[in-house]
Amino acid sequence: MKDWLPFTRPLLDEETIATVAAVLRSGQLASGPQVLAFEAALAEYLGGARSVRALTSATEGLEIALLACGVGPGDEVIVPAMSFAASANVIVRAGATPVFVDVELLTRNLDVAQVERAITPRTQAIMPVHFSGLAADLEALLAIAARHRLRIVEDAAHAIGTRHRGRPIGSFGDVAVFSFHPNKNMTSIEGGAIATADAALVERIERHRFHGIRRNADGEIDVELAGAKSNLSDVAAAVGLGQLRHLDEFNARRRTLAARYFERLADFDRLVLPARGDDGHSWHMFTVLIDFAARGTTRPEFQRAMATHGIGVGMHYPCIPGMSFYRQLGFRADDYPNAARIGRETVTLPLFPSMRDEDVDRVVAALRAELD
Ligand SMILES: *Cc1c(COP(=O)(O)O)cnc(C)c1O
Repeated sequence: MKDWLPFTRPLLDEETIATVAAVLRSGQLASGPQVLAFEAALAEYLGGARSVRALTSATEGLEIALLACGVGPGDEVIVPAMSFAASANVIVRAGATPVFVDVELLTRNLDVAQVERAITPRTQAIMPVHFSGLAADLEALLAIAARHRLRIVEDAAHAIGTRHRGRPIGSFGDVAVFSFHPNKNMTSIEGGAIATADAALVERIERHRFHGIRRNADGEIDVELAGAKSNLSDVAAAVGLGQLRHLDEFNARRRTLAARYFERLADFDRLVLPARGDDGHSWHMFTVLIDFAARGTTRPEFQRAMATHGIGVGMHYPCIPGMSFYRQLGFRADDYPNAARIGRETVTLPLFPSMRDEDVDRVVAALRAELD
């Protein structure tokens, strides 16, 4: 369709595309100078006090962060019941048990009051998700973690460029993991990064990232653990470097578009708007709730109706405990009422930096036409 408006679309400049061509001609394609430069640029973006290690994805980054924190069989990790499935899958892959906690309906972030109640002697870590780029209540979570001697592994997949009380997510706290999937606020095609100030953790992350290999001063190798193979390519890192230069401008544009949705939808009571947050919100996604059952319709039907207007809407995310794998482990979506409701009712409206103001108006007009 000519005028198709997807819910998201990456934006790459010609300079980045030219740099990629140069990297492809350089003969250095795997992890090399571009990866080092990307890691350094990310560290600088985060204020200079953190080490950053790039990886092939946030999923790999989260799994490796957990393993590097010593999470394994017999351990529990607290995670929101509504997030992308990767947030919980990595806990299972690390051999540990996810302990789901419900989210707040409007922020979609962990309900901190319920976190402390979910802690047991087996709890090793808490994995907050900064949903849609709205920072979770990190002060409260860090205080809980300090009290119970837990690690906090932030799933910051939505939160590159998010600021919390003036500081970028990933510039404070324990361990934060970003995603550079093409749907996220910046991309390295596929890719992710871990940021932490814990030097011992960085060493272990490097081992897990590349075959468990450590080189001595003479370049001889030893293998210290059965590591993964999760290093980023220089081609991907070059894309990431080009994107990072635009990140703040991308996120500013996202904030402007989100503000326009709020303005245009303020009087429209057929859907529930998300929490507005503050200026630190990076607006990775604009998600609204629609009570399809009460309207006698379904989300797929609504998605098809929006498609007739040339508009793509997403669905982020179903309640994780309601997925068949987690049901088989004994979890039930109904135990997490907000997550279950969000899972049923959420739709993601188009929001990306190259969207025009008129595109927002077009989405709002289609919503009014379909939901009135
Ligand atoms: C996208 C996403 C991930 C995984 O990121 P990848 O880089 O695609 O592995 C993890 N958690 C959340 C909340 C995400 O949205």
